[in-house]
Amino acid sequence: MTTTVLGAGYAGVMAANRLAGRGEEVVLVTPNAWFVERIRLHRVATGLRENARLDLDTVLNPAVEVVQDTATKIGDEKIQLASGENLPYDTLVYAIGSGASDQNGAYRIVSEHETDRLRAALAEAPDAPVTIVGAGLTGVELAGALREAGRAVKLVSTAPGRRAIQAHLRFLAKQGVEIEVGRVAPAELDGLVVDTTGFTVPSLAADSGLPVDEFGRLLVDEQLTVKGHPNILGAGDAVHLDAPNYLRAACATALPMGAHAADVITARREGRAGEEFRMGYVLQCTDLGSGRGRVQFLHPDDTERALAIDGRAGGLVKETICRMSVRWLTQERDRAGRYSWPAGA
Ligand SMILES: Cc1cc2nc3c(=O)[nH]c(=O)nc-3n(C[C@H](O)[C@H](O)[C@H](O)COP(=O)(O)OP(=O)(O)OC[C@H]3O[C@@H](n4cnc5c(N)ncnc54)[C@H](O)[C@@H]3O)c2cc1C
Repeated sequence: MTTTVLGAGYAGVMAANRLAGRGEEVVLVTPNAWFVERIRLHRVATGLRENARLDLDTVLNPAVEVVQDTATKIGDEKIQLASGENLPYDTLVYAIGSGASDQNGAYRIVSEHETDRLRAALAEAPDAPVTIVGAGLTGVELAGALREAGRAVKLVSTAPGRRAIQAHLRFLAKQGVEIEVGRVAPAELDGLVVDTTGFTVPSLAADSGLPVDEFGRLLVDEQLTVKGHPNILGAGDAVHLDAPNYLRAACATALPMGAHAADVITARREGRAGEEFRMGYVLQCTDLGSGRGRVQFLHPDDTERALAIDGRAGGLVKETICRMSVRWLTQERDRAGRYSWPAGA
C-alpha cells in the first residue's frame, strides 16, 4: 500500500519519515526540492539570514519517492497535479500548511515567497520605517529582527492578553520599538506595512469538496481522519481538529500531528484501530533579536505557567529548540518511531 503525503513541511516530512522507516511505500508531493524552516523566516526577511532552506535530502528518508509538483485537486482515488498529471493514491496525508498569498496588499512573512517580497522592499528602501500590525509571535519576532538590523519599527496591536506578549512588548519598547495599542486595518496604513495578524490556508481542501471550517482548514476527527473519507488524513496548520480545543498553528503542533497521522495509518495496516490524537504544550519560545529571547513555560493546555526564561539564556534555549525541530525530523528519518511528544491536558 502507498501513502501519498502532500506538503514537505514539518508535518509532512515527519509523517513521510515515520511511515517510510516502517516499510510503507511513501510518495511525497512538494513544489520545491527543499524544506523551509518557516520558524526562521523573520530573520530571512530582514537580511540577517540568507535563507531558511535545507535540501530535502538532508531531512527526508531516501526511500520516500519525491514528486516535485503542486496538488491542485483531490479526488476519491487520485490527485490532480499542476503539471497536468494525475497521481493515484491509496492513503493521503494532507499537510500543505499555511501561508496563502496576501489579501490586503500589505507585506507578510507567512511563506518563503512573501518573505522574499518583504526582503526586496526593505532592501529598496533601507531607511524607511516599518509598521508591523499584530503582536503575536510572528510580529514580535519580526520587530526584534528589524531592530537588530537597525530599522525604525512601529508595532500596532490590540491590547496584549498573554503575559508573554506583555513581556515581549516591554522588551521591544526598551529596544526602541514604538508600540501603539489599537485596532487598525493594514490596508489603510501608508508606507512599509507588514501584516502579521494571522495565517491563511490554501484552498485545496475546499476546492476539492472536502469538509472545511470557516478558514478553509480541512476538518479531521480525533484520528486525524476526514469524516466520510477514511483514506484521507490531515496534519499541521492546514487542518482543524476540534478536540483538544487548544491546538494552535505551530510547528510544535505540526510535528506531533504528522507523527500521529503516520501512527494511525500504521495501526490500520496492522488491523488495529488508530488511537485518538492527544498532545500537550511545554514551552513557547520567542526570538527577540540580538541573541535575546523568552522561553515561556506552559501548562499542557497552552495556558501560561508563572515560569519564564528571558534575555540571552532565553535566546539560547530558543535557538536550541529551532535546531531540535530539524533534529526531530532527521532522527525520525534514521529511526522511525523515535519521535514522541507530551501527552495532552
Ligand atoms: C516567521 C515565523 C515564525 C514562526 N515561529 C514559530 C515558532 O517559534 N514555533 C512554532 O511552533 N511555530 C512557529 N511558526 C509557525 C510554524 O512555522 C508553522 O506552524 C509550521 O510551519 C506548520 O507546519 P506544516 O507542516 O503544517 O506546514 P508548512 O511548514 O507550512 O509546510 C507546508 C508545505 O506544504 C507545501 N504545499 C503547499 N501547498 C501545496 C500543494 N498544493 N501541494 C503540495 N505541497 C504544497 C508547502 O510548499 C510547504 O512545503 C512560525 C511561522 C512563521 C512564519
